Amino acid sequence: MNIILFGPPGAGKGTQAKYLVKKLNSFQISTGDMLRKEIQKNTSIGKKIVNDMDDGKFVSDDIVNTLIENALSDPNKKNRFIFDGYPRSLAQAKNLEILLKKNNQKIDFIFFLNVDKETIIKRIEQRKILEKRSDDDLNTIIKRFDTYMVTTKPVLDFYSKNQNFYELDGASKIEEIKAKIDNFIKV
Ligand code: AMP
Repeated sequence: MNIILFGPPGAGKGTQAKYLVKKLNSFQISTGDMLRKEIQKNTSIGKKIVNDMDDGKFVSDDIVNTLIENALSDPNKKNRFIFDGYPRSLAQAKNLEILLKKNNQKIDFIFFLNVDKETIIKRIEQRKILEKRSDDDLNTIIKRFDTYMVTTKPVLDFYSKNQNFYELDGASKIEEIKAKIDNFIKV
């Protein structure tokens, strides 16, 4: 089963992804984590993206699509992906469709965790204290949310027509969201 978790930064995608990975014996594809690893390892990709990431800007589709292509081509992980933070642009969504088709796979569920800006700001300020991420300061949080709204809205329009698209209230308690997801996937 392949699942997309979709929503603004701080919506709780990572938390639900980790839960689903355990439950379904799947693999989390977090492009944010993949990109942070490139920076930590100081790779050529890492050097290219560090400033944009610190500024809360999106990394280019080409870079992100390449990372996804490499991850999807692993036969041991086939049909066991939990996408967290990808796709985030229409070009990425279309690329994912092509890559999945090429690998004989499909998306089974798309969960949109919808949360308002004020809740996101509160949550990310909290996360800043716990995880010490350099892109979690107030100005960057606001920029990341606004970028998400502009760039990711077309992705929402693209997916919301699908029968397997479900909108969930991302401001609810973690356990409530888990229960709702469980109910939809019925595994
Ligand atoms: P996240 O950990 O998902 O909040 O992502 C942190 C940062 O990584 C974002 O603000 C972007 O700079 C970058 N990023 C993560 N995923 C993507 C993506 N799919 N497309 C472009 N940039 C991304």
